[in-house]
Amino acid sequence: MKSQYRVVVIGGGVVGASVLYHLAKFGWTDVVMLERRRLASGSSWHAAGGIHALNADPNMAALQAYTIDLLSEIEKESGQNIGLHMTGGLTLAGTPERWEWLQANYRIFQSIGIDDCELLTPQEAQRRCPIMSTDGVLGAMWADREGYIDTTGTVQAYATAARKRGAEYYEDTKVERLVQTADGWQVVTDKGTITCEHVVNAAGLWAKQVGRMAGVELPVSPLKHHYLITDTVPEVAAADFEMPMTVDLEGFTYMRQDQKGILVGIYEINHEHWAMDGAPWNYGEELFQEQLDRIENELMLGFARYPSIQDVGIKTWVNGAFTFSPDGNPLVGPVPGKRGYWSACAVMAGFLQGGGVGKTLAEWMIHGEPEADAMSMDVARYGDYAQNKRYIRETTGQFYSRRFVMSYPNEQLPAGRPLKMAPAHDAMTAAGCRWGVSWDLEVPLYFAPSKDFVENLTLKRSNAHPIVAEECRVIREGVGLLDITGFSRFEVSGPNAEAWLDKLFATKLPAPGRARLAVMLSETGRLKGDLTLLNWGDGTWWIMGSYYLRAWHMRWFNDHLEDGVSVRDLGEEICGFGLVGPKSRVVIEKLAEQDISGLKFMGCGTFDIGLVRARVARMSVTGEMGYEINCRYGEHIALRRMLLEAGAGEGIREVGFNALLSTRIEKSFGIWSAEFTQDRTPGMTAMDRWIAWDKGDFIGRDAAIAERDGNGPARVQVTLEVDAADADASGYEPVWADGKQIGFVTSGAYGHYTGKSLAMALVDRERAQPGTQVSVHVVGVERPAKIIAPSPYDPEGKAMRG
Ligand SMILES: Cc1cc2nc3c(=O)[nH]c(=O)nc-3n(C[C@H](O)[C@H](O)[C@H](O)COP(=O)(O)OP(=O)(O)OC[C@H]3O[C@@H](n4cnc5c(N)ncnc54)[C@H](O)[C@@H]3O)c2cc1C
Repeated sequence: MKSQYRVVVIGGGVVGASVLYHLAKFGWTDVVMLERRRLASGSSWHAAGGIHALNADPNMAALQAYTIDLLSEIEKESGQNIGLHMTGGLTLAGTPERWEWLQANYRIFQSIGIDDCELLTPQEAQRRCPIMSTDGVLGAMWADREGYIDTTGTVQAYATAARKRGAEYYEDTKVERLVQTADGWQVVTDKGTITCEHVVNAAGLWAKQVGRMAGVELPVSPLKHHYLITDTVPEVAAADFEMPMTVDLEGFTYMRQDQKGILVGIYEINHEHWAMDGAPWNYGEELFQEQLDRIENELMLGFARYPSIQDVGIKTWVNGAFTFSPDGNPLVGPVPGKRGYWSACAVMAGFLQGGGVGKTLAEWMIHGEPEADAMSMDVARYGDYAQNKRYIRETTGQFYSRRFVMSYPNEQLPAGRPLKMAPAHDAMTAAGCRWGVSWDLEVPLYFAPSKDFVENLTLKRSNAHPIVAEECRVIREGVGLLDITGFSRFEVSGPNAEAWLDKLFATKLPAPGRARLAVMLSETGRLKGDLTLLNWGDGTWWIMGSYYLRAWHMRWFNDHLEDGVSVRDLGEEICGFGLVGPKSRVVIEKLAEQDISGLKFMGCGTFDIGLVRARVARMSVTGEMGYEINCRYGEHIALRRMLLEAGAGEGIREVGFNALLSTRIEKSFGIWSAEFTQDRTPGMTAMDRWIAWDKGDFIGRDAAIAERDGNGPARVQVTLEVDAADADASGYEPVWADGKQIGFVTSGAYGHYTGKSLAMALVDRERAQPGTQVSVHVVGVERPAKIIAPSPYDPEGKAMRG
């Protein structure tokens, strides 16, 4: 072991070994992995080894598909047998809603390139898995790329392949302390101290402690998990093929063949956390006693699904622990505020996801950003609030118990909520507000007409549809009041602020008293932000964006910070309300102490609105005339009261974000995580219209110019009108033309005011002309659609300009 490396990876489980392998594969060989005991002595050794490409989150499904394809490659490269059994796999649907969901997902998988799936009848499924009872099964999805591997062999294979490429790893070497230095880290181990540029926390069950060694409190916790392995099952022994990996969602179990018996794993509804502060250091390869009382119900369902195991013995019980983040996705990437400290932990399914995590992290470290959009696993998707122990317990527990439970897009889950509430929350609740959550904050979805209203959970349009329709009408014809606490706000100031912003944004900076949509690019010319820049004219600037990206954007700002610039997140100080609709000017004029009538579209300034000294900007995502009125937290209640009083004569009504999403799609305004993601470019998304080509240098300029002057992107953003029935597209549904998939939906919604089911989509450039007839799968059903010109509502933008 040397005393200096470029990268030290802490932890020799499947994730650490994959990180090591990918770093070496992409050319960084001055790297070492340290393992306190033997390889795979954390949760990796006792995993069930099941592999399947399917995941409800399309980004995670793509990651899993990559990992599965990699497995045979590392086996070949390392010469280490990984016991790969590609049996194919079944996912069973046991309720009509689940069957609908599975059919919808079958199409979504096609969009992301997982095209080895087929839908089966219960009888067809049973032929492929003859030991299974089809009682209650309504249908199933088959995937070729599913099966199982030998877990320890797989970790060995990653590590051996990494070593063959020049990386090193050492067992029996425990990292005890981390010290940040001016240019990296000192890694203090029980075998001596190493200095390095980068440290990777891949410590699995011990990730919490290895985080704390660097002063980082990661939102991660281990939970216990059971599986059993049976003695020989006669039907299995007699079959001339292997049973497929089978996931029974309504039964909370997964099953795979194990020699001549089967392995049945259980996602316990009655979950149990373990060692929330990190596993004990003396924890080795022991397991916990099985807890039959905790899994009785799921076990009965498993025995009913596979009746032949009722007559055979159980050979082995495994009750082990593995780690979860609040949303169940890994925590990957550079940890905000800790230069050179990287997270590769909370990987719930290391054998399915570890390959993709290793690839993502290695690309990020070496090239500055990963190839694919890593948002759903980025460690910076959480803020400080997620360090709280109860928040972690509630959210990880909820995710675990619901791992196989059907979730609906309009479902509100209770864990960790309510946490942060805008001051007017209670008054808004009394007015009928139904809440969703963004990051830590409760955000208004819509206002129910009575307190007895219960929204039905559905993949289609819910019974809240007419309520949102009425809110949209108010926005388009009258005036709505929207709580805009759920936007992010950063203040930029200092003598170098203007020059710094000019370099950070590809857009021309707004003049004093003006606001502008501002594109931020990465060095490779891909999107990094769809923000709004406001120049208050007094040397201070605001950057406004999506609330849930607060830590993510702040990491980017800090990483590029220069002398003479200060960036402050105002998210705990400033909130506000928006007035939206043609009558909003009348309302604000009643309250403004100064003449606000001259404030033009995209103008901004400081005004006295009633008793509040407010920062006001004339803009709205709805495409209507609108004012965003920003106040201090303590003024939120008073601002709401004054605006409601002033608007009473104009029929003002409170509206929520569901109406905002409907009105914004009628304007073809894209939003982050749907139209705009880190793996897309300005040319693909029409964001190039905001780029100031004639200004000086900015981040991503060369790449943006290369795209502009090149052959153009293969796919571009379009707006679709869908001939829908009772459901609208939501995202990732395939778009077809002449029997060929030409793209996929990025988001969809019902345009209540235009009376059209709308979607935005990325499609092949040569098929992107308005008028092109296409079709789109909506909740699994193919519907006719056509590409229309952008902005079906008020294409000339007269309403918002007023
Ligand atoms: C019962 C059960 C069944 C499962 N089934 C599946 C399955 O079918 N498919 C699947 O994909 N996943 C499954 N999993 C999950 C899987 O086991 C984990 O996702 C995976 O093991 C996580 O790997 P890791 O490398 O992040 O962590 P770990 O395997 O915990 O590895 C972390 C390593 O870091 C080392 N370490 C920690 N701290 C230090 C330090 N300070 N210095 C040096 N070394 C350190 C530890 O010794 C350990 O070896 C299952 C888990 C359980 C418990």
